[in-house]
Amino acid sequence: MPSPGSVTAELSILADRISECTLCRLCEGRTNAVPGSGSATAEVVFIGEGPGKNEDEQGIPFCGASGRLLDELLASINYSREDIFITNVVKCRPPGNRDPLPDEKDICSSTYLDRQLDLINPKLIVTLGRHAINYFIPDQKISEVHGQPKRYKGRVYLALYHPAVALYNGSMKATLQEDFLTIPKVLRKLEKEQKSNQ
Ligand code: URA
Repeated sequence: MPSPGSVTAELSILADRISECTLCRLCEGRTNAVPGSGSATAEVVFIGEGPGKNEDEQGIPFCGASGRLLDELLASINYSREDIFITNVVKCRPPGNRDPLPDEKDICSSTYLDRQLDLINPKLIVTLGRHAINYFIPDQKISEVHGQPKRYKGRVYLALYHPAVALYNGSMKATLQEDFLTIPKVLRKLEKEQKSNQ
């Protein structure tokens, strides 16, 4: 297993490459690429769709209104951003906040997101919104699978609604709050499983 120091160093090299990336058209309109942030030893990686206006301006994931809700949800399970890693399927803002296109998602994630996950090797991947879950497990309906952990190709995923959807919809917010409580439960279960396999 690589040391936390070497993972941090590799993530930082990757972040530099992301900042200069020209592999797809999204580089044309960006102010800053948003590689991701957080702990190299995170047990949980959160993955959103792509940077919005605030993120593009600051180069930090989830630093706008959705991010404030995300911080609130993290606090509800006694987590802070330092405990996790947060990134997105695409690392540059799609113009006008349109959905990222299939080729943008494919090239960005296969080049950068997959490598970030290989390096961090989290116990659990929490996807925020339909783009993120469908990058990993195709044809998932978020309304049907949210809050239910799924094992797929050697990793464990938990699909959640995107915080932006919950910002203006009270019932979605309640669902997201409830689904968040699943995170520590899934982690405890995975830990138990790991211990019994040792
Ligand atoms: N929405 C996302 O999906 N990602 C961000 O970083 C911010 C908002």
